[in-house]
Amino acid sequence: MLVGPPGAGKGTQAEFIAAHLAVPKISTGDIFRANVAQGTPLGIQAKQFMDAGQLVPDEVTINMVRDRLAEPDAGDGFLLDGFPRTTPQAQALDKLLADLGTGLDLVLELVVDDDEVIRRLSGRRTCRGCGKIWHVEFDAPNREGVCDRCGGELFQRDDDKAETIAERLRVYARDTAPLVDYYGAQGKLVGIDATGPVEDVTNRAIDALRSYGG
Ligand SMILES: [Zn+2]
Repeated sequence: MLVGPPGAGKGTQAEFIAAHLAVPKISTGDIFRANVAQGTPLGIQAKQFMDAGQLVPDEVTINMVRDRLAEPDAGDGFLLDGFPRTTPQAQALDKLLADLGTGLDLVLELVVDDDEVIRRLSGRRTCRGCGKIWHVEFDAPNREGVCDRCGGELFQRDDDKAETIAERLRVYARDTAPLVDYYGAQGKLVGIDATGPVEDVTNRAIDALRSYGG
């Protein structure tokens, strides 16, 4: 399982690590979309909450995770990306995995400090034309504010504005950071430095898995 603040690169690292381990990457975003698209009973329930602008209750989420873990491709292992997000979810997941006769082997914490998160996220600019995401510092277009690919105008999404990032970091510190202690107490936590080039972070993650025996 991966844990880390917004902007730590969890989604990107999850792709590489899951490919390295040859196991499926399981994220609640993907599971929600699949259940809603297929019109499953859980998807219909989840959509009612989302349409009302409410959080999907943990019980619905954990049942979707249960169904996903029962699919054949997860039989030899899986990588959880972005779930659990709170201690009650982690407790429910532990119970679910115990019921299935399994458990988490390792929790990788992608460690990035708040200043770096703010630098990464607040520099993002999205093209109104093609949706490509640029970065004012790390991946700047040739002309400021204009997409190299399609000539579209670049803008800053609300999610990438400083005040929104600060709020997301507060929510992470309050709700999700306690998982570091939760899994640390189980002896399952390994922290890796998630700064620097993407491939360096992937290599650190793979080294951590290897020293565990994965
Ligand atoms: Zn564009």
